[in-house]
Amino acid sequence: MKIVNARVLDLDADTSSGPVTIEVRDGVITSVGKTAGPAGPADLDAENAFVLPGLINAHEHLSLKGRLLDPDGEQYYDVYRAPAERQLMQCARSLLTSLGRGITTVRDAGAAWSVNLRIRDAVRDGMLPGPRIYTCGQVLSIPFEGEKVKVAGMTVDAAGVDGVTETVADLVKQGVDFIKLKGHRRDFADPNRNNYFSSEEIVTAGSEARRQGLKFALHAWHCHVVGPALDAGVVDSIEHGNPLHEQPELIDKMAASGVILVPNVVSWAPGPEARWSRYPHMAGIELERVWDTVTLAIAKGVTLAAGTDLHNDHLHTELQAYVRMGLPTTEALKTATINGAKLLGLDSELGSIESGKLADLAIFETDPRQDLSVLATPRTVVTRGVAHDAGQVRRLVGDGEP
Ligand SMILES: [Zn+2]
Repeated sequence: MKIVNARVLDLDADTSSGPVTIEVRDGVITSVGKTAGPAGPADLDAENAFVLPGLINAHEHLSLKGRLLDPDGEQYYDVYRAPAERQLMQCARSLLTSLGRGITTVRDAGAAWSVNLRIRDAVRDGMLPGPRIYTCGQVLSIPFEGEKVKVAGMTVDAAGVDGVTETVADLVKQGVDFIKLKGHRRDFADPNRNNYFSSEEIVTAGSEARRQGLKFALHAWHCHVVGPALDAGVVDSIEHGNPLHEQPELIDKMAASGVILVPNVVSWAPGPEARWSRYPHMAGIELERVWDTVTLAIAKGVTLAAGTDLHNDHLHTELQAYVRMGLPTTEALKTATINGAKLLGLDSELGSIESGKLADLAIFETDPRQDLSVLATPRTVVTRGVAHDAGQVRRLVGDGEP
């Protein structure tokens, strides 16, 4: 198929092309060039709309939605406790929510019972439409003494160097796409209770992941878990990362070594006004640190990849936050395209519109560089050369979560 009259955004040059034709064969872009003739019946006329690479959500939990978005006492844990079948259905719904928002790749950062692996395979095998999924399955965690989140099964306990090594090997056997380790274990009901992996355990997890040819992601809310992973050179991304601004030398090291920061600002504090008020019962998370960390990371040139954690209809809000923290708009757009592709190690296939890359595209009525909020309402989303009416997908799912 051909997509004609497309105005392709070049984020490196900060320009948009005149109307061009994108030719696609077997789901792959075969050429991008001057428009030649009118569209045929099998072609798509972009009618001078703006075309971006399909968006990449670099940190998402497909299975964790619903009442989790308004965490309040026990209801918060009910979402985690939902049966696996229910969580799998939530994954299917999240696929459509993401597709309607122009998201063609999702990096899923953890789900109970590894339902994320099942939904990944279903999309890959053509059972369901939706973004391609790249997932860690379950998250390595230190054994947990409380009962609240333990029931979730989103994390898998690992203790000691041998325990960590065995757990990584088991996840690899399950077919995960990357390894994620949660540096600390916090009981949300008791923010003061923290347990941490040792430096040796963290470095072992990263080394084992690398040995298996997988990327290693470190979920970090504390500087002292980040330092050893950076020094050992075994980490590819820091998830969240607050409060790294307290040790700016760690941010310098990330910038120098190309370790990517996936902050998920929207999950905690989408605007400075929300710093204190959003989740009062989670005061221990110290929301203000998210903005301070990301602002400094931007100033020091750390590569960011945009993720929404729990809010998959708010990737545009995440990008808007980066701009408010000092990132130029075209750079913000890269955090949800080429930077996400680099994080996955798939930048030769995804993240820009070039001959030889997969035909994952999102088409917008107006130029997203002028107003990032248009990212929420693409006209058309193309996954591997298959075009979907994005407005129809959004109507199908409706607003909000059940
Ligand atoms: Zn997360």
